[in-house]
Amino acid sequence: MKRSLCLFMIIILLLPAGVLSAAAEGLPSIPRSQVTQLAPTGYMARRVNGFLNTWVPVSVKENPELIQAVLRANPKYAGMMPNLYSGLLMDQNTYFGQHLAGLAVCYRLNRDEMILQVGNDLVAALDKARGENGYLGVHAGNNRLGTGNNWDVWGHYNAIWGLHEWYRLTGNETALDMALDAADYCIRHFETHTYDTAVGCIRCSLGHAYALLYQETGKDAYLKEALRILEDVWPGNGNWLENAAKGMQFYQSSQPRWESLHAIMLIHTLYEITGDQQYYDAIDQIWWSIIKTDRHNNGGFTTKEIAVGNPYRSGAIETCANIAWMVSSTDYLRYSRDSYVADEIELTYYNAVLGAITENMRHVTYDNPMEGQILPSQTSLAWIYNTGCPDYNCCQGYACRGMGQVVEWASMTDEGALYLNFYGPCTLQTKTPGGQEITLRITGDYPVSGDIGIEIDGLQQPEAFDLMLRIPVWSDQTALSLNGAADLQPAAGQYSALEKCWENGDQLSLNLDMSLHYWRGGSTFRKRTSLYWGPILLTQDEYYTDLPTDEVNFTLDAVKNAAARPGDGVQQWLIVEAESDEGALIPLIDYASAGKQENSHFTTWLRISPAPEAAAFSREGMPLWAQALPE
Ligand SMILES: [Zn+2]
Repeated sequence: MKRSLCLFMIIILLLPAGVLSAAAEGLPSIPRSQVTQLAPTGYMARRVNGFLNTWVPVSVKENPELIQAVLRANPKYAGMMPNLYSGLLMDQNTYFGQHLAGLAVCYRLNRDEMILQVGNDLVAALDKARGENGYLGVHAGNNRLGTGNNWDVWGHYNAIWGLHEWYRLTGNETALDMALDAADYCIRHFETHTYDTAVGCIRCSLGHAYALLYQETGKDAYLKEALRILEDVWPGNGNWLENAAKGMQFYQSSQPRWESLHAIMLIHTLYEITGDQQYYDAIDQIWWSIIKTDRHNNGGFTTKEIAVGNPYRSGAIETCANIAWMVSSTDYLRYSRDSYVADEIELTYYNAVLGAITENMRHVTYDNPMEGQILPSQTSLAWIYNTGCPDYNCCQGYACRGMGQVVEWASMTDEGALYLNFYGPCTLQTKTPGGQEITLRITGDYPVSGDIGIEIDGLQQPEAFDLMLRIPVWSDQTALSLNGAADLQPAAGQYSALEKCWENGDQLSLNLDMSLHYWRGGSTFRKRTSLYWGPILLTQDEYYTDLPTDEVNFTLDAVKNAAARPGDGVQQWLIVEAESDEGALIPLIDYASAGKQENSHFTTWLRISPAPEAAAFSREGMPLWAQALPE
């Protein structure tokens, strides 16, 4: 009975009008996150929620210059608003937009009313403060929108993006109105100015904002201006579309800074709007070129803020860049439906991004190094300091987006399938392909162990669809069972499709293979090796050994059979113990916990002899960081 009801439902549910018309127009069908709440538990939740609960309540209240600077630029208040604070910062008006884009996904994480309130209050305050004609920056006269070498264009891009994200994920219509007004202001301004008046690396950024607003409103003026940037400004500034078609690497472009990922998101949105294959091909080429040369062993992206063509080069691995990389990769995951892209996002999130939270739980790092120390961005970027917003710099402004971006990739839904990419313990609420609410209860303590339970709940009625489970590329021997039977051994590096009529109480048991895997270094680190437990980069932190990192050597035999045990759940997520060649038991801890103790220096490039073989990069082969240790 249930089965036939289900079959009937498939026919009804799989053919909504929107899908038919999209298919008729030849547009790609693109999955998207429909997650309404993730509610993580365990170590990740302690870190992320600890940070959000400490930082978000004070993020606007104790940083009044966030709003005051906008007020002072409003001619209505000219002369009435003394500047009480020191020095306007170069990218002052990027912070509130980035912060809103972060608060939006963090609200989806836990449905925390406090976050909703802080975001709505910020929007209301900006609405009161903003200038005439939609201007949403902190400058006056000829300094507006970049004339005068400031970052006002980048500020407006972030303001529009953040306000639109806040509208998209919370429904706040004032935020959308402000985004539209700000975009209209920019379009009017650039009727008589060239985008080349803005700072080079952010000249193209507004294109993505215009494209998003065209997608939202269908208003031709936004598409026209987006295409003007693509056709007139891109060729002299990065030229990513043409370069990608020629097979050039991202680092070889004239604009290889991380901000370019936001500019390139213009062709992400254009691909969604038009389905034009040339956009997809460029996105694909750029993503893989970064994987090949500029994603470090901790999942971080860029070196000193720039793609340099060498993942072993030392230099700051900036929090902003890592977050932009995750945001950009989330789109590529949606377009490609390639589970490996989610493996990469997980690598970045669990290591470089969670590692950015400093010990005071209020601040994040600027640099997430492969070896060295973890310092708050307020120390590393001390030159970016304003007494009126003492907490802020770019990384702090962007931090919440890093913590909450997981709601955008944890699970995605399209017209026929529900994709599950996130396996940390949580109660994930989302939508089925048929549009029903569904709850996935994920149990276990992944990534400490690979044993994961998934229970289906919350369905109003049974529904047939494909449940697509991500089988990580590094999980060589995976076991999967459904309701205690149907033992399967899904292949690594792809989605395992389970096609059935799902009902409440269905239970899946997934056992991922967590055997240690490695990345043999190159260049400066050519004699050294990184080890991974699942997606977790292992780190040797002097705090836990009292031995300088360069005095500890391991034999390959000693690390081969090492296994993880849970850390204390506060200072460490997990610990893998391996004996050094001098017989000392050395704890290797997860990257996210490393460098957090006073004066703790760490390295992720270990001295292991004989060093396991170096692999050559190949898009088709195993990733460099997922090489199997020799038997
Ligand atoms: Zn930054």
